[in-house]
Amino acid sequence: MFAPRHAVDVVVVGAGIVGLAVAAALARCGRSVLILERREGIAREITSRNSEVIHAGIYYPSGSLKAHLCTRGRELIYQRCAARGVPCRKLGKLIVASQESEIGSLEELLARGEANGVPGLEMLTGRQVNRLEPQLAVAAGLLSPETGILDAQALALSFLAEAESHDAILLLHHEVIALERCSTGWRVETRTGSEASASREAVSCETVVNAAGLASDRLAELAGLDPDACGYRLHACKGDYFALAAGSEISLERLVYPVPAPAGLGIHATLDLAGRIRFGPDTEYLAEPNYHVRPEKAAHFAKAIRRYLPLLRSEWLSPDYAGIRPKLAGPGDGFRDFVVSEESGIGLPGLVDCIGIESPGLTAAPAIAEYVAELL
Ligand SMILES: Cc1cc2nc3c(=O)[nH]c(=O)nc-3n(C[C@H](O)[C@H](O)[C@H](O)COP(=O)(O)OP(=O)(O)OC[C@H]3O[C@@H](n4cnc5c(N)ncnc54)[C@H](O)[C@@H]3O)c2cc1C
Repeated sequence: MFAPRHAVDVVVVGAGIVGLAVAAALARCGRSVLILERREGIAREITSRNSEVIHAGIYYPSGSLKAHLCTRGRELIYQRCAARGVPCRKLGKLIVASQESEIGSLEELLARGEANGVPGLEMLTGRQVNRLEPQLAVAAGLLSPETGILDAQALALSFLAEAESHDAILLLHHEVIALERCSTGWRVETRTGSEASASREAVSCETVVNAAGLASDRLAELAGLDPDACGYRLHACKGDYFALAAGSEISLERLVYPVPAPAGLGIHATLDLAGRIRFGPDTEYLAEPNYHVRPEKAAHFAKAIRRYLPLLRSEWLSPDYAGIRPKLAGPGDGFRDFVVSEESGIGLPGLVDCIGIESPGLTAAPAIAEYVAELL
C-alpha cells in the first residue's frame, strides 16, 4: 500500500509483457518504479492469450517500429531465454503458398524480410517443403529458421524478477482511474477492491508509462488526450484457437503459416513447448469483447487449414482459447504501426503511450522497453 504523498520516478500502468519489460529496463537504469495492475496477477490479458511465437520480423514494412522492434526484440528474447532459463525453442517456420498464384506473395515477404534484416530466409519448392513436412501439400514455401516459440508467462516472470531485483514494486488489484498533471509531473489515482468496498489511493511521479494493452486508448484519454483526434482509438479484434485432438494423424515439426490474411497472419499451425499442435487465430472485430470460442467454427477452421494440410478433419479440432488484439486499424484499414510515444509534443510531458501493441508485441517487448528508456 502507498500513502497519498508517496512519490516515485515512474509509474508503469499494466503488468503485461510490455509494462513488465519497461519496468525492468527503467529500474535497471536506477529509476524508482511502481507497477500498477488492475488484475489479480501479472500477464492475465493479451500476454496470456496469444500464439507464443517469437517472430523473425518478416511481415512489417521496412522502417516501421514493428519491423525494427520485432527484429531487435527477437535477438534480445533469445539472449534472455538463454541467460535466465526461460523455456523456448527455435523450431523454425514455413509460410506456404497453397497455389501457384500465391507464390508472388511469398516473394514479396522474402524481399520484405531481407530488407528488415531477417537472417536465413529461404524460398523452397513444394517438393522441398515436403521433405521437411511430408503432410503439407503446397506449391512453395518460405522457410524462416529464426522463428521460435516460448513460454510467455515465464518471460513475464523473468521481467518482474529483474524489475524487483532493482527495487521496483508491483501492486496488484490497483486499477488506475485518474491521471492528472501536477507541478512535479503526474498524480495517479487508483481504485482497489470491488465497487461496494472500493478504496482510493494516489501516488505522484515524474513519468507515467501507459502499457495498459486493451485499455491503453482509454488510459490516454484519462491523461487528457483525445484518442480519436490522435488516431489512438483501439478496435478489439478477437482471434480464436482450436486444439488438435490427441490421436489425430497430424504431425508437424515446425510452425506453418498460410500467406497473410487481412487483419491477421492467417489461420496457422503452431506448436507449444509440450509439442501440442493448435490452429488459429482467425480475425473477428467485436463491439463487446468476449473470450468464447464457438465450437461450430471448427468447419470453417478445417476448410482454411486443409488448403495446406489436406489430411486435417474438422472432428479433430476442439475449441481451445481466444485472444483479443488491440488494433489501431479498423476493419478494411491499411497498415498501422505501434504507437510508442513520449507526449511532450502534444502538451503532456512525462506521459509515454504504448498503444496498439498487437502482434508482434510479445517478441518486441524487450525492444519496446529499450526504446522507452531512450525516450526518457
Ligand atoms: C490472438 C493473438 C495472438 C498473438 N500472437 C503473438 C505471437 O505469436 N507473437 C508475438 O510476438 N505477439 C503476439 N501477439 C501480440 C502480443 O500478445 C501482445 O502484443 C502483447 O502481449 C501485449 O502485451 P501488453 O503488455 O501490451 O498487454 P497486456 O498483456 O494486455 O497487459 C496490459 C495490462 O494492463 C492492465 N491494465 C489495463 N488497464 C489498466 C488500468 N486502468 N489500471 C491498471 N492496469 C490496467 C491489464 O489488466 C493488463 O494486465 C498476439 C496477440 C493476440 C491477441
